[in-house]
Amino acid sequence: MENDIYERDAYIKAIQAVNDVIWEWNLDAKMIIFSKEINEMIDFDTDDLCNLKEFIERAAIEEDKDKALDELNDFLNNKTNIYNSVFRMEQNDGEIKWLQIKGRLSREKLFGNKVFIGVMTDVTQFISLQDRIKYMAYFDGLTELPNRVLFFQILNNLLIRSIREKKRGAVIFIDIDNFKTINDNFGHQHGDMILKMFAQLLKIIVDKSGQIARLSGDEFVIILYDYKDSKKIEMICDDIKNYLKNYFEIKDKQIYITVSIGIALFPEHSCDANELLKYADFAMYYSKLNGKGRYSFFNKEISDTFFRMRQIELELEMSIQNEELYICYQPQVDVCKNKIIGIEALIRWNNKNLGNISPAEFIPIAEKTGFIIKLGKWVIEEVLSTTSLWKKKGYEFKNISINVSPIQIKEKNFKETLFNTCKKYDIPSNLLEIEITEGTLMEVYKEEYKLLEDIISNGINIAIDDFGTGYSSLNYITALPFQTIKIDKSFVDNIIDNEKNIAVIKSIIKLSESLRYNIIIEGVETREQADLLEGLGCKIIQGYYFSKPIPKSDLEILLMNQGVLGGRQIGR
Ligand code: C2E
Ligand code: CA
Ligand code: CA
Repeated sequence: MENDIYERDAYIKAIQAVNDVIWEWNLDAKMIIFSKEINEMIDFDTDDLCNLKEFIERAAIEEDKDKALDELNDFLNNKTNIYNSVFRMEQNDGEIKWLQIKGRLSREKLFGNKVFIGVMTDVTQFISLQDRIKYMAYFDGLTELPNRVLFFQILNNLLIRSIREKKRGAVIFIDIDNFKTINDNFGHQHGDMILKMFAQLLKIIVDKSGQIARLSGDEFVIILYDYKDSKKIEMICDDIKNYLKNYFEIKDKQIYITVSIGIALFPEHSCDANELLKYADFAMYYSKLNGKGRYSFFNKEISDTFFRMRQIELELEMSIQNEELYICYQPQVDVCKNKIIGIEALIRWNNKNLGNISPAEFIPIAEKTGFIIKLGKWVIEEVLSTTSLWKKKGYEFKNISINVSPIQIKEKNFKETLFNTCKKYDIPSNLLEIEITEGTLMEVYKEEYKLLEDIISNGINIAIDDFGTGYSSLNYITALPFQTIKIDKSFVDNIIDNEKNIAVIKSIIKLSESLRYNIIIEGVETREQADLLEGLGCKIIQGYYFSKPIPKSDLEILLMNQGVLGGRQIGR
């Protein structure tokens, strides 16, 4: 016994000389004491601490915790002879300290009790450059938040723990709405500042109750573990929404943002990190679809949508090979001359498992997966080969319109594909018109200005589709020599007693006369609408009133004898 106490005293003296912390854990009495140096080394209150395990649980940062606990357990279960463990601890001011704990079981028992003694050293300054670099590889330089790699490590550890401890957790996926527009309007520096400030905001809101990571660009994620009840999740989401009612002030600019949020829970929704993230991402996407600036919990409905989208994604890949795609054509009627003046090509898909699927549903999916590139090429090929046949047969029409997606436009061979296919089928380029939605136009205007100009200077027309639904800036519209504006269907709906819409259409028509645009008005369904619009000066009308989009053989019949459309004899 005397020997033992002597041994401990010598040990303690030696350690005190180097400012390390000495600890002594009495395993039988369930007590642990730390020497007073701990108060200078770290921000930690050792009151009511019973053992080293509790210390690690409370001190170690989430991503180091499991490893540190395993190392302790391995030693206590005699799997290792020496106890030596390093983990990181975050201080109150956010500084990260690297702590090394070493220890051994005292050879003799102290008053009959088994004692584990050791030292704790702050090794932060000894951590090699290499380790620091490794550390940086896990953090995002801009926001100093854990990055995607570390996020997956943290989540995987928590998933293992959640099974062991039978506890629940949540993955909260956050995406800033219209971040691209913020970057475009205010510049990348402001964009970066927004990301930094938003990360700061998340840190304040989440505080110690969860882990935050930046996945990429404007995507953030919060992991909650062992929260008391689901209200906590809603509280965090509401807090984020409420904080964002205030603007960020960056160099005299006041910038408002909103975010779309999706939440997936474990173990309820999945115990797989990739899958959880996907579900949370999908719930976020659902929030976007439902108007942005809101949060959604992953649920049955979202899950069904998700699996349908997955199925569409997979089936779509095979759609060209399986010859499931075809084009329907909708005439655009010149109501002054009662003639079919143009034709819009609209894609159709009849899948053997899913039946008929609307392009409004599958085009956005094709855009997400990139399949739109192949699909777009197929459309151009198919439409121009049909057009060439019709031209050879001598049918008269002034233009054939193809819808194109922004992803297609940004693809490097887009222009060549258009020009080459026109050449291949001997189609004069001024017969072809591509329809770009107003939103797309804004998106590609800056980066692809030259390309749009090239297309136009080669004689191909560009029509602005869905006009009036985006945030059109006349600057954009008047800067490029577009030929055609297609006024969106939403202006036609209820036009009969909507003075405002009538006024808008009137002024667009007036503008178009001085700027020499063709105006096509879409989605005209009734005679009343057609008559009213004609009265307002609309010359070209497209809509169910004249004809739905129809297969090429049916359209050919119309072109052949120009038949009766919407009660009018359409002539050649
Ligand atoms: P969009 O370009 O705005 O096409 C007009 C849509 O309105 C078409 O729907 C058309 O069938 C429908 N429509 C035309 N007249 C009327 C009407 O009087 N009443 C009503 N209720 N609807 C009318 P569709 O064919 O389902 O196409 C939906 C969207 O899918 C298109 O909107 C377009 O954005 C996209 N799309 C279609 N084909 C293609 C394509 O080949 N490539 C790309 N990128 N997108 C396409
Ligand atoms: Ca269109
Ligand atoms: Ca449209």
